[in-house]
Amino acid sequence: MSTVALEPKDMEWLEKGVLGIEWNDGHKGIYPVRYLRQHCPCAACTDEWTGQLRIKPDDVPLLIMLMDIEPVGRYAFKITWSDGHDTGLYSYKFLREICQCDICQPVKPVETRSKRLL
Ligand SMILES: [Zn+2]
Ligand SMILES: [Zn+2]
Repeated sequence: MSTVALEPKDMEWLEKGVLGIEWNDGHKGIYPVRYLRQHCPCAACTDEWTGQLRIKPDDVPLLIMLMDIEPVGRYAFKITWSDGHDTGLYSYKFLREICQCDICQPVKPVETRSKRLL
């Protein structure tokens, strides 16, 4: 048997601003929407060559909302954001890589806050 292509099976809001995607392999992914916006894979937000993010985490509004999410072909989601941005195509593979559940991200990235000690 060939391997089954990764596909979302179900999607639901786990809590306000946190999207849950259940994959066809049984994995339950967790995606805070602000994190998704901060990691938008489009050319304006991510450097196509280096893969480095062009947008700064602070550029994303604190109360960013996901306005629309629609499948593109059988490989990606197109997400429309409340800040008007809609050019990011989030491939299923990419989404799986940036999953924020406890299994995929045992150590949560700390939100950067400027802390001046002196
Ligand atoms: Zn983008
Ligand atoms: Zn995960």
